[in-house]
This record gives sequence, structure tokens and C-alpha cells, in this order.
Amino acid sequence: MNILVTGGAGYIGSVCAEVLIDRGHNVIVLDDLSEGHREAVDPRAAFCQVNLHDEVALDTIFRGNPIDAVMHFAALCLVEESVKKPGLYYRANVAAGINLLDAMLRHGVKRFIFSSTAATYGEPETTPIPEEHPTRPINPYGASKLLFERILEEFKVNSGVDYVTMRYFNAAGASQKYGEDHHPETHILPILFEVALGQRPAFQIFGTDYPTADGTCLRDYVHVVDIAEAHAIAVERIPRFSGRVFNLGNSRGYSVREVIESVERIASRKISVNISPRRPGDPASLVASSARARHELGWMPKYSSLDSIVASAWAWKQRFPKGYRGS
Ligand code: UDP
Repeated sequence: MNILVTGGAGYIGSVCAEVLIDRGHNVIVLDDLSEGHREAVDPRAAFCQVNLHDEVALDTIFRGNPIDAVMHFAALCLVEESVKKPGLYYRANVAAGINLLDAMLRHGVKRFIFSSTAATYGEPETTPIPEEHPTRPINPYGASKLLFERILEEFKVNSGVDYVTMRYFNAAGASQKYGEDHHPETHILPILFEVALGQRPAFQIFGTDYPTADGTCLRDYVHVVDIAEAHAIAVERIPRFSGRVFNLGNSRGYSVREVIESVERIASRKISVNISPRRPGDPASLVASSARARHELGWMPKYSSLDSIVASAWAWKQRFPKGYRGS
């Protein structure tokens, strides 16, 4: 298939583009490089530096390329930033996506895979969280993604768009080539590696007073390559899964302290830790039931243990100690 990957210079999009190309697809990466890295674009992909608010540029891309499906990763994804700047999040995660859908429809493209999030659930009432769990996001990031999910339902009913929504839990890990590199960095593993390499003095644990076994937040870490495989399976058989929502996680929660211990094991170094107040917008626990993805998509995560996820991310960090910019 010919697949347009928005946000294909970002963390999950770059790995997804790589996996799609490995599976024989043609990929066009669309990214404005506001967050992504040119170095993270697979050299086998075509690349267009375009902002999704630029309708003329979108028309040029759809007119000039045979596109069978779109995978939409381009988004803002920081919970705390979204609490401070909700307008920014609704523009990036909702308005820009509508521009993309409108451009697709102008050119007869009707297959769409949406990169959504466990943050759509809010504070879970049951754990692990199934897809039919109520969606009551507690931060604008989750709310913006949920709103776009609802918009997609309307585009399906009214315009015949076949879409699949993927709700990721905590994407982590790296492929051989592409990994996690944000500026500024806010995610747990890259920050722990910066501490391990002496690039930061200490790791701040955001809250030790959560109602969890050790008082720190529980998250379900899922390998980015496994996430990419789920997307590839879905796009290859999209009419069959049209309108479905899938959780992507490993159905096992690890506390922040357990993640620190895993990094200490894999990197063979001690991590200095400070205790900080809770970070705004963080739920205590987010653990997926991914039974639906396993049964319906036949999705089988290859890297289900935390140590295997951490090991792949650590290997990438050692190859790119200062991220792509230092490469
Ligand atoms: N976390 C932390 N200190 C940090 C970064 C993250 O304690 O410097 C915690 C955060 O509160 C959350 C978990 O690590 O419980 C994962 O956070 P991350 O930002 O990686 O992903 P998120 O859960 O926000 O998608």
C-alpha cells in the first residue's frame, strides 16, 4: 500500500514508517519538524516538510501521490503542557486533524489509522482498562484525543471514512535505528538514561503518595515496535476493523520505582533520585486490557517484559547519547 504517515519524523511515527517499509509498503512521511527530527525519517521514505494547517500543501501532496491510507501520528502529547496550554492542544490535536481528513476526502482517500491514547480514559474505575471503559479524560491532552475520536465516528457515518483508533498506553523502547528524543525531554526512560549517563544530576519522582503499592504511579509500558506492528496489521485489513478502537499495552503495570530499578539493572548503574510533588494531570494507574487487539488483530507483542523494553531503549541511547542532534 501507499501510506502517508503524519508525524513520521517523531518517535512513534518514525518507527512505524520503518516497520511499514520493512513489510513492503511505500511510505510518504509528512512532518513539520516542529517536534520531529529529519534524521528520524527513514531514508527509504519520501519526505514532505508540511504543517497540517497548510491546506494548499496538503492538496499538493494528495494530488501528486497515490495514497491508499493515512496514519496520523502528528500531535502534541505532553499532559502537563496540555494543562497549561489547552488551546494549543485542541488546535494541534483536533483542528489540524480535521484539515487532514478534509484534504483526504477532497482526494478520495478514506482509510485512516488514528494514534490515540490511554489518557482518554481518565482515572480508571476498573483495572486493567478495557476499551468500553468510560472515557472521562482528566487533562486537555486526553480530552483533545477523545474529541478527535468522536469526530472520526462522524466522518465514518457521513463520509464513509474507514478508521481504526489505537489507544496507546506508555510507548517506550526503540528500534535499532529510531528512538525517543524530545526537547525538552519529559518522558521517564530518556530522563533516567540522562541521569545514568551523567547528563542530569538526579531523577525526580513525581509523587510518592499515590494509592499504589509503593506510592508511585503505575503505567503499562509497551514497545514502540509492537505498537508499529499493530498499526501495520490494522491498515493491511482496514475494512474489516473499520470503526474499532484498540488498546495497545502489555496488561501489566510497573511503578515508577520499578522502572528505575529496571534501568539500574540494564545500565548497571545507580540512579540518583529526588522526590517531587505530583505532576498535574497524572492518573495513579493506567494499565490496559489489550485482549481485543490480541483476539481481533492477532497482535502478539514481542517485547512484553519491562527489561526488554528498557534494554532496547538503552541500546539506542548509547548509540545516540545526545539524541539525533548529536549524531
Ligand atoms: N515520571 C516521573 N518523573 C519524570 C518523568 C515521569 O516520576 O521525570 C513519572 C510520571 O509521573 C508517570 C510516569 O513516570 O507516572 C510516566 O511518565 P511519562 O511522562 O514518561 O509518560 P506519561 O504517563 O505522561 O504518558
